[in-house]
Amino acid sequence: MKNQNSKIESVLQEKLGGKVLLGESLKYYTTMKVGGVAKFLYKAKDSGQVLRAIKVALDLKLSYFILGKGGNVIFSDDGFEGLMIVNQASKVSFFEDKAEVWAESGITNGELVMKAAEKGFGGIEFLATIPGTLGGALYGNVGAYGWEIGSFVKSISLLILPDKGKEVKVVKKPGSFLKPLYRSTILKRLNAKIIAQGKGISWGSFHPIILSATLQLQRKKPEQIAREIGKLIEMRRKRQPQGIISSGSTFKNPLGRSSKIDEVYKDIKKTASYMLDNVGAKKIKVGDARVSDRHANFFTHSGKATAQNIKDLVQELQKRVYERYEVKLDPEIEFVGKFK
Ligand SMILES: Cc1cc2nc3c(=O)[nH]c(=O)nc-3n(C[C@H](O)[C@H](O)[C@H](O)COP(=O)(O)OP(=O)(O)OC[C@H]3O[C@@H](n4cnc5c(N)ncnc54)[C@H](O)[C@@H]3O)c2cc1C
Repeated sequence: MKNQNSKIESVLQEKLGGKVLLGESLKYYTTMKVGGVAKFLYKAKDSGQVLRAIKVALDLKLSYFILGKGGNVIFSDDGFEGLMIVNQASKVSFFEDKAEVWAESGITNGELVMKAAEKGFGGIEFLATIPGTLGGALYGNVGAYGWEIGSFVKSISLLILPDKGKEVKVVKKPGSFLKPLYRSTILKRLNAKIIAQGKGISWGSFHPIILSATLQLQRKKPEQIAREIGKLIEMRRKRQPQGIISSGSTFKNPLGRSSKIDEVYKDIKKTASYMLDNVGAKKIKVGDARVSDRHANFFTHSGKATAQNIKDLVQELQKRVYERYEVKLDPEIEFVGKFK
């Protein structure tokens, strides 16, 4: 086993330019700051490096996981036996005549919005307030205040996993391929299905990987974009806790998609945070894990919680909400790896 491991390590180092890190704590790669260590971790600086890392992992029959900024994942305390690929590919280019932007999927949402604004393109201001990368945003069809990224996608470039014995393929697909629903896409649904069926040698990413995307923007003055971002940040400040450890909203709102700004908040009694508040969420602690005093759907801790503590708190609150409201709250965050 030891020999096998050092062989895998030397192939990874050889093929990935000696840049593979060993035993990195995944705490430092997620916004919830919990989780075990990754046996191997590689920071891919462009799409070519993402592609190469996946090919090498497949050749070695090693599990791999594609990670953005870790804003929506909770890795188990057991850690990951495979190759964690941190996607930092962030090239951007604009098609000014069509008001479109093409970007690699590791660009952060904030950087993408700012680069577009500098060129006089807007429409995606809401993204500036959502932490993470373009790839993570597309995978989960992120949204806020009535906007969702799915409606801006013209096309995507996808790495498709091979059938047995075949090569990986990179294909271009229209945005509609993602079949976006409220906080979900076909990629997220596919991954959940494969994991539920228990396929794969360990855990990892089992869905096609988004290498880049082209988004439809609109011409706007940079000052107007800055004003709109300012308003959205102010709305967040009023409603959500700031500067705490969290993954944002833990559960989806049972009402689902909002078509207009604030529609979800019209019937406050149907929001996840209202129900959580009413079942005493703010009074429970599991280990160091608790919910924020300001917003019952934001789970947090002071730095000492385990991933299992977060999972247990989620399950306890799902149970309480179900007992009181007969509503099964569906987590928006993803638990990845082995939990009790
Ligand atoms: C304070 C805070 C506020 C938030 N507010 C919102 C909000 O208003 N609205 C909202 O929708 N979300 C919100 N979130 C959740 C989070 O920011 C989003 O889900 C975000 O898109 C996660 O992006 P990421 O790059 O961090 O993805 P990660 O957490 O790194 O990954 C999430 C999933 O996407 C997959 N993935 C990542 N990159 C790719 C790729 N290139 N191809 C295929 N799959 C990929 C990963 O494998 C993983 O399964 C918030 C989070 C925080 C911490």
